[in-house]
Amino acid sequence: MAEKTNPKLSETTPKTMLTPTGGFLAGYTHTLNPYSGCSFACAYCYVRRMPVALFRGEPWGSWVAAKRFDPNAFRRELARAYKKGPTSIFLSSATDPYQPAEHGQRLTRELLELLANDPPAFLFVQTRSPLATRDIDLFARFPADRLRVSVTVETDRDDMRRAFAPYSPPIAGRLRALRRLRDAGIATQAAVAPLLPCTAGFAAALAGVTERVTLDTFALGDGASGRRSEALGMRSRLEALGLAEWYAPEKLEEVRGLFAAHFPSDRIFVSQDGFAPH
Ligand code: SF4
Repeated sequence: MAEKTNPKLSETTPKTMLTPTGGFLAGYTHTLNPYSGCSFACAYCYVRRMPVALFRGEPWGSWVAAKRFDPNAFRRELARAYKKGPTSIFLSSATDPYQPAEHGQRLTRELLELLANDPPAFLFVQTRSPLATRDIDLFARFPADRLRVSVTVETDRDDMRRAFAPYSPPIAGRLRALRRLRDAGIATQAAVAPLLPCTAGFAAALAGVTERVTLDTFALGDGASGRRSEALGMRSRLEALGLAEWYAPEKLEEVRGLFAAHFPSDRIFVSQDGFAPH
């Protein structure tokens, strides 16, 4: 595996931060992306197949643009959205809001501060980084039923993480982050998305750190009925590892059965439903 160099970090000054939603996230009114690009560079990232990545002409993961925004303009943007009706925000759909650049840039934290002062009807925070625990103080300021922090944990096998997302945070740190968030009274979930080959102990490990789980697959969760995952070579990557059966749709039901022994049925979600505003 080639050594990954630090991503090129640039800045942009977008006129607006909130983007009206559709498609996979149709249950939300807006998405909110503090960055363009993502240095976690997961091999299966469906954003690789989207215009923001395709037209950039540089490898996905090699660049990150920090969106420098005016806090007053963002407040006004929020107020305009709230005026139109209940506003539900997905943070973030095309980047990880807690990727390494956030340590220094603190854009996600700044946005959360503004959102905590005037919370939307619902805020869903999606990440795979333990850095999210830095902002527990801000999460705690949201009404408990209007915020969920979802941490991706695709597998409990770190060799699988290294095979598919080698630049993403190790699994153990994500489990600790989920536990810390839950213990702080924040609504959480583990997003097993996409489901990667895992051990029989995976469900028990997640049940020890979160109250809810969402299972997703390459075919269901890429926003294009599996076409993006095919184009990204996920099937052949599993085949090369001798694990082709993990691409089959039946695997989801098998794993769901394992999770049913550790989570109540109404705490196990599948694909889109697990990322909806609730
Ligand atoms: S963390 Fe999310 S946005 Fe970033 S590369 Fe991985 S899947 Fe894509």
